[in-house]
Amino acid sequence: MPILKIITQPNPILRKKSQEIAREIIKSREFKSLVSSMIKTMVKTDGVGLAAPQIGKDIRLAIINSKDGPLCLINPKFIKKSWAKELGQEGCLSIPGVFGRVKRHKKISLTYRDQAGKKNALTAKGLMARVIQHEVDHLDGILFIDKAAEIENVKCKNHNE
Ligand SMILES: [Zn+2]
Repeated sequence: MPILKIITQPNPILRKKSQEIAREIIKSREFKSLVSSMIKTMVKTDGVGLAAPQIGKDIRLAIINSKDGPLCLINPKFIKKSWAKELGQEGCLSIPGVFGRVKRHKKISLTYRDQAGKKNALTAKGLMARVIQHEVDHLDGILFIDKAAEIENVKCKNHNE
């Protein structure tokens, strides 16, 4: 399976609100192959997460690189966000060389469908919660630079979130 091309800012696809994915689509071979390509692309580019708009698809799908392996979030929906927030450094494969500190909820809970189309829920905190919020923002056309407090331009392209 090929490595997918990552779309970078200011491509308008990154600003589109992505569409919900129907259950029949999740079961299709094309969709499964898209998920595998996205996982492969995320691993090869050293990303901690990859959202479908970043590879040019306006659908509600994101892959997260968790400590237990790639996590596939389809139609993710937050059901709980902690009142407490914290600042942390972020970058994005679609905005190479740019970093900034973003305030995110410390702990979040969400529902989503997994690769098999099954409804699931998870609670995450710290870095994992941050990555999930960053990726779900992509599905709504929001980039971390919209929220970042201090933005830093680094002319070195080997640091990507
Ligand atoms: Zn990103």
